[in-house]
Amino acid sequence: MEEKEIKIRARKIAVHIRKIVKLLVTMIIAAIFILGIIEISYKQTYSVILNGEIIGYTNDKIALQKRINKYLESGNGDDVAFVELTDFPTYQICLLKKNEVTNDDEIFNKIVSSGISYYKYYAITVGDEEKVYVKTFEEAENVINQLKEKSSSNAGSLNITEKYAKNSSTEGNENAAVASDVTYSSVDECVNQLYVEPVKVASSRGTTRKTTTSTSAYQNIGKQVVSSTSYPTDLGVTLIEPVVGTISSRFGYRSRDNHKGLDIAAPKGTAIKAAAGGTVIFASNGSPYSGYGNCVVVQSTSSLIIIYGHCSKLYVTKGETVAQGQIIGAVGSTGYSTGNHLHFEIRYNGTAINPQKYVY
Ligand SMILES: [Zn+2]
Repeated sequence: MEEKEIKIRARKIAVHIRKIVKLLVTMIIAAIFILGIIEISYKQTYSVILNGEIIGYTNDKIALQKRINKYLESGNGDDVAFVELTDFPTYQICLLKKNEVTNDDEIFNKIVSSGISYYKYYAITVGDEEKVYVKTFEEAENVINQLKEKSSSNAGSLNITEKYAKNSSTEGNENAAVASDVTYSSVDECVNQLYVEPVKVASSRGTTRKTTTSTSAYQNIGKQVVSSTSYPTDLGVTLIEPVVGTISSRFGYRSRDNHKGLDIAAPKGTAIKAAAGGTVIFASNGSPYSGYGNCVVVQSTSSLIIIYGHCSKLYVTKGETVAQGQIIGAVGSTGYSTGNHLHFEIRYNGTAINPQKYVY
């Protein structure tokens, strides 16, 4: 009867295996079911964290960040120069119940309310001295035009400087756009205050006042200037474009620092032409142009130097005279750079000014 015993044992083992299989199947079904429920009721989103706190959820962090970047560059108002944040939002992937709404607008508003807006206003300067302040560029321009027409003897030394006033954003308060510690003058007040009788008596034609439109020489003065920088209307030379490429970063405010030049992206090796002629005063790598990589600096006039940074190759040497349009180097990504581009920087009397006021 040994055979019978073997049969019984075999059946027992079969029952056992069947139980295990059943259990496994149940577990798999359960897992699929649970995953299904998660899939149905949860979605993958990003939590947005500001100052260590979750301020909301977003499905599209790229779109949201783009919107925030745009806001940082120009704020919500026309006269906002840029916005500074005490903290930048960070994103963390997470699951969120499907019926819970993601709230990009709410997040955006919270970020806006944490920002400090810098507003623009304008100083009219005589030489280097700031004399009067107006709220808009058009007013400043108008004042200078009137003084020119009146042949005010200081007309030649008048300039417009863009200024920034810090102000916490207060919603719905229009006056928030005005710096409280700056006294603004009307156009007429400015003209009266700045007018200086010409030394030589003007021609008999007198001072017929024309309403000046946007044809003034000050038209090209900056909209995006580093604080307290005066823009010369005329550099003394006409610049040409040093490379053909796409502008990858503009002059001025960049999320946390000031960008002193204009970045033009172009393939490695693209010829860099001298935007203006002059004497090469630096053609090397390092101090005092650390970070610029291989860099050429050309002195064009006593007031004007032009810097070409991040070159892959330099074709000129210090002391050499270069002509406008002469190839002085090749585009690269040396120094503090993340991709092939030319860092094109113009310094006028030692101050970096926006190249796009003159070229590109
Ligand atoms: Zn740059």
